Amino acid sequence: MKRSKFLLSIAAIPITAGLSPISNSLNKFIIHNERSKKLMSKFELPPLPYAYDALEPYIDKLTMEIHHDKHHAAYVANFNKALEGTAAEGKTIEEIFKSVSKYPVAVKNNGGGVYNHSMFWTVMKKNGGGAPSGAVADAIKSSFGSFDDFKTAFNTAATTRFGSGWAWLIVNGGKLSVISTANQDNPLMDIAETKGTPILLLDVWEHSYYLKYQNRRPEYVANFWNVINWDEVNKLYSAAK
Ligand code: MN
Repeated sequence: MKRSKFLLSIAAIPITAGLSPISNSLNKFIIHNERSKKLMSKFELPPLPYAYDALEPYIDKLTMEIHHDKHHAAYVANFNKALEGTAAEGKTIEEIFKSVSKYPVAVKNNGGGVYNHSMFWTVMKKNGGGAPSGAVADAIKSSFGSFDDFKTAFNTAATTRFGSGWAWLIVNGGKLSVISTANQDNPLMDIAETKGTPILLLDVWEHSYYLKYQNRRPEYVANFWNVINWDEVNKLYSAAK
């Protein structure tokens, strides 16, 4: 169905009560389908929570512009398109992921792209980095031995992921683990090899670093530690426990 058939009736309906922080940042908007007189909800591109150049010099402005405005925007548009006419329409993204294998593969690929990027922007900030504090710092220590051991595990996951994908810190049964996934797969999906609730993630697709780092993925991964928003990771950890 063409976009022109739709009339934007309400600008932004934030999905709030009872959902995880990531759902709160994944706003939906409601469109009125004139032909069927049905209200349909669509996923929306969340705005970048800081300026495009906020993560300089570690992640450059042009990369952020293209990554958010082109790549992430395309996942949102293609996810909405992929959902049309499927039983996944109208569900939350977490609900969709729980049985993602039942839907067309475009739902998995683009839904993952929507969720992963929406969360990725929030776990970074200007003048971020340093050592974590609070509950997540304790959990890292008890799960990995030390912050440095955790960093080594995460760096290894991020640098050894062959091709495109993501490195993750996930919570499962109160325990933290580091994993990596291929493409836009997400540890909340029923197809995930190791399942868990994500609280930190790093995009290792070439589009996330190639303009500045070219083939030097390990340098990009090392610099990620300078932009991590540990307050947000702590929030995600509290919500995931
Ligand atoms: Mn990306």
